[in-house]
Amino acid sequence: MPDAERPIVDLGGKIALVTGASRGIGHAIARRLLEAGATVAANAPRLDEATLAAFAALEAIRPGALIPLEASVDQPEAARGLVRSLYQRCKRIDILVNNAGILRESVIGMISDEEIDAVLRTNLHSVIHLTQGAARLMMRGDGGAIVNLSSIMGRVGYPGQLVYASSKAGIVGATVSAAKELARYNIRVNAVAPGYIETHMTEGFSSEAKAKLVAQIGLGRAGRAEDVADVVLFLASDLARYVTGQVLGVDGGMVI
Ligand code: NDP
Repeated sequence: MPDAERPIVDLGGKIALVTGASRGIGHAIARRLLEAGATVAANAPRLDEATLAAFAALEAIRPGALIPLEASVDQPEAARGLVRSLYQRCKRIDILVNNAGILRESVIGMISDEEIDAVLRTNLHSVIHLTQGAARLMMRGDGGAIVNLSSIMGRVGYPGQLVYASSKAGIVGATVSAAKELARYNIRVNAVAPGYIETHMTEGFSSEAKAKLVAQIGLGRAGRAEDVADVVLFLASDLARYVTGQVLGVDGGMVI
């Protein structure tokens, strides 16, 4: 293809894994990666009716380029199994997007061990397990890109989000450590830190809480899943070939 006709972001031939791709930000990321030419392994904890419909919409973007992978990433064996299945099918992985996450809110006195376990396993342990598995494969090839979903809550905290904010701050530590260790293998590791994005995760917030959040956003509106997905696409692509170990806010100016 002549250079002039080449898309700015071309992921043709790349194999990507996106966790939690059944809806919200993960679904938008899978869409962007597919649109840019990648083959995308889209993970979800259950291939139920809603997820199958969501994946059918992705499959329609480029038929044959979507690989649905059912696994609950909070289980170490299941997370490792994701990388194994991808290796069996494609023999490689070029892009890993650690997106799957859950939000639970409790005031400090009411936090249960079950909540700590569920949130840390889903949001943080999975990032470690998948980084481990993917990095091994990327090292055997010519490198790769890992993008983790942190949150502004990992930087500024929020009442009721001790556990969630801890998991998201942990992702920052995981990102910078992995970036330092893996740079020599041409594996870049970055994170995005979204602010308030309208998805299933935030739809249960009261209208008062939503209005308060929007009032803190310089750009004057809540974020959309696509606002985050475009930045993930950039970090996953060659446009960010000299960027590693960074945590990029995608928050409309909420935290400056
Ligand atoms: P949603 O709740 O809309 O989507 C979360 C996704 O993660 C779903 O696809 C869900 O699958 C999946 N998921 C949950 N648990 C597991 C699991 N054990 N294994 C595999 N997949 C799982 O959330 P968002 O799209 O808003 O969030 C995506 C990421 O962005 C999260 O890491 C979140 O913390 C982060 N983020 C979101 C912000 C926001 O304002 N929305 C702000 C900052 C960060 P299923 O639906 O099938 O359960």
